[in-house]
Amino acid sequence: MRISVQKSRCPQNHRCPSIRVCPAGALEQNGFEAPIVNEEKCIKCNQCVKYCPMGAIQSNA
Ligand code: SF4
Repeated sequence: MRISVQKSRCPQNHRCPSIRVCPAGALEQNGFEAPIVNEEKCIKCNQCVKYCPMGAIQSNA
């Protein structure tokens, strides 16, 4: 499983709220760009997938 960010769904105009719910500190964001998943830190818990109101973070089997 891999977590991916669909940039086209992310408005990229605010601090990503899903960063706060990630228990592993695996979501990183430069400015207001779409967040990036740090694969080395990600524990595949899906919290960010559930939390993103735009559905921009998705879990791919
Ligand atoms: S799946 Fe969990 S650990 Fe991975 S980026 Fe999302 S919230 Fe963080």
